[in-house]
Amino acid sequence: MLINYFDNASTTKIDSRVLEAMSPYLNDFFGNASSNHEFGKKTKNSIEKARTQVAELINSHDDEIIFTSGSTESINLALKGYVESNFDKGNHIITVKTEHKAVLATCEYLETKGFEVTYLNVDQRGVISIDDLNKAIRTGTFLVCIMYVNNETGVIQPISEIGSIAKENNIRFFCDGTQAIGKIVVDVEKDNIDMLCLSGHKLNGPKGVGVLYKRRGIELTPLLHGGGQENGLRSGTYNTPFIVGLGKACEIAHNELKANALILELISKYLIQELEKITGSIIIGETKSRVPNIIDVLIPGLNSEIFISKSHDIAISNGSACTSQIIESSHVLKAMGFSDQECNQSIRISIDKSTTENQINELVKIIKAEII
Ligand SMILES: *Cc1c(COP(=O)(O)O)cnc(C)c1O
Repeated sequence: MLINYFDNASTTKIDSRVLEAMSPYLNDFFGNASSNHEFGKKTKNSIEKARTQVAELINSHDDEIIFTSGSTESINLALKGYVESNFDKGNHIITVKTEHKAVLATCEYLETKGFEVTYLNVDQRGVISIDDLNKAIRTGTFLVCIMYVNNETGVIQPISEIGSIAKENNIRFFCDGTQAIGKIVVDVEKDNIDMLCLSGHKLNGPKGVGVLYKRRGIELTPLLHGGGQENGLRSGTYNTPFIVGLGKACEIAHNELKANALILELISKYLIQELEKITGSIIIGETKSRVPNIIDVLIPGLNSEIFISKSHDIAISNGSACTSQIIESSHVLKAMGFSDQECNQSIRISIDKSTTENQINELVKIIKAEII
């Protein structure tokens, strides 16, 4: 199938080296990592290797890595697990209106359980105000949840500053790192991040596997009870092949991050240059502090819903979620002050290092043809 794939923020293609690393564990090395025989030990060792590969990428310790089924589960474990184990320390959470639904929906659930949540605003560039964060902190604030990179706009939040503020105030800091991992350097020590989630399929690894990093000393209540894997925090038989794949993807991301960032920067520059030639187009969000692989653009006269679902050789998305035929505007763009009409004229273009100039030319040509 010949397709121009511009939806890498939704999911990425698995790297062939990752597939190769996984393959033996789908085949000959099928042992249960919790078994004490040689078959089990072989798989257990491969999981411990993957743990080190993840830990090295984010500058954490091996024993701070918990394997899960992806970021959604990691977010649920971090938030629900933290409040359940620490309700004696507070009842107030601070998050942001532009977080991923996995964070927002979990926070809304926690509100039904009696916890209080402040949803910080962002400015037109999609960035929070540090002043607002400081003002929101009060007696009883015990958790701050702020994402590293926004999945719709690519905008980076001031994570180091947030981490310092949380630390000074003795508040724990959970960061959704899903879109940052492999794109920019994420250092949980330097940034004072207490918990961080990542997902395999967003960094050329397999789907259905992820990680929660949890700093030593933080108590969590597990979501799943059972065999006691992952220090009792994530029971269930290890998904060895996928964990091995995630580890490999992290190792590759670690080794190639700098080189990839340079390539993505170049492709992104060309893409922005071509998009800016379209009359009235606006690149959405902060221009300086952002990842190069996600470009959200507003194109006057484009109906993004129609454009996205139309059958042409372009795979692309926007921020809107379609629920039972009711088109909902992106909560991210709305929080940034865009109208419903503007939301429906915006598309998210997410590239990877294999995106070519020809593909970009094709995309821009098709966009232009769709403008009414
Ligand atoms: C994709 C994504 C998630 C959810 O990841 P899953 O693998 O679907 O669980 C959470 N946060 C952000 C920022 C994402 O981009």
